[in-house]
Amino acid sequence: MNYDVIFIGSGHANNHGAGLLAAAGKKVAMIEADKFGGVCTNYGCDAKILLDGPFEYLDGLNNYQDLGLKADVQIDWAAMMAHKRKTLAGFQEVFPPRFKNLGIDIINGRGTIVDTHTVSVGGQHYTADYIVIGTGARNAKLNIPGKEFTQGSTEFLDLDALPEHMIVIGAGIIGMEFASMALLAGKKVTFFEYAERPLLAYPEKYVQKIVAKFEAQGAVFHFGQAVSQVEKTDNGFRVATADGLSATGDFVLDATGRIANIENLGFENLGIEASSRGIEASSRGIKVDNHMRTAVPNIYASGDVVDKTIPKLTPTAEFESNYIARDILNSDGAAITYPVIPNLVFTLPRIGQVGVTIDEAKAHPDQYKLVEIPWGERRDWVNNHELDAELALIFDKEDYLVGAAAISSQAGTWLDWLTPIIEKKMTAQDLNSMIMSFPTQTYMLWSTLTPLLRAQ
Ligand SMILES: Cc1cc2nc3c(=O)[nH]c(=O)nc-3n(C[C@H](O)[C@H](O)[C@H](O)COP(=O)(O)OP(=O)(O)OC[C@H]3O[C@@H](n4cnc5c(N)ncnc54)[C@H](O)[C@@H]3O)c2cc1C
Repeated sequence: MNYDVIFIGSGHANNHGAGLLAAAGKKVAMIEADKFGGVCTNYGCDAKILLDGPFEYLDGLNNYQDLGLKADVQIDWAAMMAHKRKTLAGFQEVFPPRFKNLGIDIINGRGTIVDTHTVSVGGQHYTADYIVIGTGARNAKLNIPGKEFTQGSTEFLDLDALPEHMIVIGAGIIGMEFASMALLAGKKVTFFEYAERPLLAYPEKYVQKIVAKFEAQGAVFHFGQAVSQVEKTDNGFRVATADGLSATGDFVLDATGRIANIENLGFENLGIEASSRGIEASSRGIKVDNHMRTAVPNIYASGDVVDKTIPKLTPTAEFESNYIARDILNSDGAAITYPVIPNLVFTLPRIGQVGVTIDEAKAHPDQYKLVEIPWGERRDWVNNHELDAELALIFDKEDYLVGAAAISSQAGTWLDWLTPIIEKKMTAQDLNSMIMSFPTQTYMLWSTLTPLLRAQ
């Protein structure tokens, strides 16, 4: 064998495990068809958060407009884009050498599985004891007349200028996050959404707050609409629905989902199955067992390409990657078990949840106690005048914290702070054994949660 392990794809689903295995003395290769680091690093989370930063400040400034802060701040998208491109280009200079220094061979090209131990790249064959498929996912595209006029998240996150009027097909996470930025920059956004509301998996009350904010910023939502056609006009693109609604804008974002990259990998000949349930109903993902192994025991799959119902996120891909490395090093080890996973939508403000949801708590009052806190109203003195902020805490019958949800610019910090309390089943005694800095929002979380928690 040329290698102990060959990874196909260099995203978070693979590169963490590759590093662990190389550090453990294994001979490792990573095959990448595009830029090193995958979607998150180049076209997803990192690109998005680099652009989002100034919008976060602008949104915060707006909270103080009636409290004496008169700010006239302009978004310079072109300068932000230059910063994003420079930062991400820098990653390409830093990351591949870092992995090469660990002794990992990086092979540029598209990998195809030839047999259970062989991967081909550009006609060259490489053999390994184990193969890990971490080929990720791509933007879905509605198969409708005029689909060539729609763009995806990758294109939006690399625009030279923000569109004057963006038409968004699909009010899911990506569509809502990008609209948050465009609206705050004073641009127009029109949504066409098949469901009756955006972000179906998130608390309705919080989502309605975002919808109301977007509408106050000039957004138009069309719910219960199936987009059936896009056509080019003299001044842009006209998007039409089966019910006869239409809107014309200068950029059409297809944000209808993500599709697992399973084509042309050659695995079907080996009996590896891809099921019909992937990231979206229309997508397919590779079936794995509870060790992340495909039907061929020495071939694993990891990250967005896998068929599973847990959230398709960078931290879950990283978790699986580390698990696979440990499983390879100790192949009779334990099955993968996921901890609670915080889930954050980067709208302005953020919406997020972890563990048992508000809906689940309401549906099972015999099992859960739901405590809803109008955080902004009650904690304004330490909440940067974010009056709309809310927090929900969900306890089980033994008074352990089992879930939380929030709408706040700080929701990410809150949920990351609450997640270990849920995961480690911490009690009031545990929290009382710590001292927090003051006055901070996390101190307020601590002092709010402690009396509600199980004593010890
Ligand atoms: C716009 C956007 C924003 C996002 N924001 C967040 C966020 O805020 N937080 C979060 O947690 N997650 C976010 N995500 C999701 C996150 O990016 C993914 O969950 C994560 O990238 C999955 O990692 P992966 O390694 O499974 O796949 P990918 O990152 O897609 O990596 C797969 C790699 O495999 C390569 N590849 C594919 N086929 C082959 C082949 N045959 N041979 C060689 N190489 C191949 C691809 O080129 C790619 O580099 C976002 C996604 C998008 C699109």
